[in-house]
Amino acid sequence: MPRRAARRNDAGTAGESTRCVHAGSRHSRSAALSPPIYQTATFRLPNAATGARFCDAVAPAELYTRWGNPTLKQLEAALAELEGGEAALVTASGMAAASIAILTGLKKGDHVVGGSAAYAGTLEIETELLPRFGVEASLVENTDVESYRRAIRPNTKLILVETPANPTLSVTDLAGVARLGRQHGIRTVADNTFATPINQNPLRLGIDAVFHSATKALSGHSDVSAGAVVGSRRFIREAWYTLKLLGPVLNPFDAWLVMRGLRTLALRARRQNENAQAVARFLSRHPAVSRVHYPGLPSHPGHRVARRQMSGFGGLLSFDLKGGLKAGVRLVESLKVITLAVSLGGVETLVQHPASMSHTMIPKKAREETGITDGLIRFSCGIEDAGDLIADLDQGLRKAARR
Ligand SMILES: *Cc1c(COP(=O)(O)O)cnc(C)c1O
Repeated sequence: MPRRAARRNDAGTAGESTRCVHAGSRHSRSAALSPPIYQTATFRLPNAATGARFCDAVAPAELYTRWGNPTLKQLEAALAELEGGEAALVTASGMAAASIAILTGLKKGDHVVGGSAAYAGTLEIETELLPRFGVEASLVENTDVESYRRAIRPNTKLILVETPANPTLSVTDLAGVARLGRQHGIRTVADNTFATPINQNPLRLGIDAVFHSATKALSGHSDVSAGAVVGSRRFIREAWYTLKLLGPVLNPFDAWLVMRGLRTLALRARRQNENAQAVARFLSRHPAVSRVHYPGLPSHPGHRVARRQMSGFGGLLSFDLKGGLKAGVRLVESLKVITLAVSLGGVETLVQHPASMSHTMIPKKAREETGITDGLIRFSCGIEDAGDLIADLDQGLRKAARR
């Protein structure tokens, strides 16, 4: 095995930008400043005894890439550092990370409590996939820790939270959920995709494990599909076993792209926070808009909890158009700088209109019960100039209201 490079850039106590720039770099096995890409499926073994040792190991770095790979290890070290966890595991998508974080430690007969506002794929795991394997899930009002408590049963093994969460950027008290989990000996897991490790660190608030869609802000350039799970060494060992069997391993080049993105995460996240705050303020005064959902606005029901547990309110917001469905379609089709596309967290501002796009198959009443009204617009701030985003929205809102 190559000699481990000298320890350097131990930025554990440094500021957020310094940590992003240097995270994981002391885990590189090479003097190359840019992380080497180990574009290989397998590794030459010096002898049979080493093979035996690696085959018996947890996550060996140089046996077979599905089991481990130095490029992936470097990204894992970086993400563990940024989230304040002991260890991390990277995956081929955010859904792979969600599946692994959820399935690890569950067995037939177990019960899961999850917030009702969460990523659609996560909710489908809970309501569609888990029941097929004899695991029941209860979805509860996610802004209320007491509703999680009431749903706990003797066989509850997992509490799942996402904060802030679509469609109204609802906020869950992470320290409250963590306390609840500890009191009952139940593992707590949080989806930290929207907040990013820059704005919120659930592990530091007592949550046991965190997962991310690294497709979003961690990579930040909408050019890669990736995910990550971060937690205790023990949990990540278990999660590694699940990953090794299910197989959604991240490819080394995509791991490199995520690392490149991570270097500017703090800069991007802070700029997105500022843009979202400016856009939210503009929209909340606009006559065509009936409601703005952004945790950074004092009018948001989760503002107080968000102030306590977040160091920034994130780049995502949503708002309601008075003109309903038609106005929503007109707005998203008349924007010029802002792009109509699903996903979030990238350098470019993206917008979508769930009622005419992702949720057309869901009956209006059921849709509205989940908070997705006809005029609801989802907005992911990029790093453009706030003035340009506001000008684009202004002309789009005028067109949406006029016709
Ligand atoms: C996108 C997303 C996911 C799923 O991630 P993929 O990379 O698309 O698989 C999970 N949770 C949240 C909050 C997301 O935004």
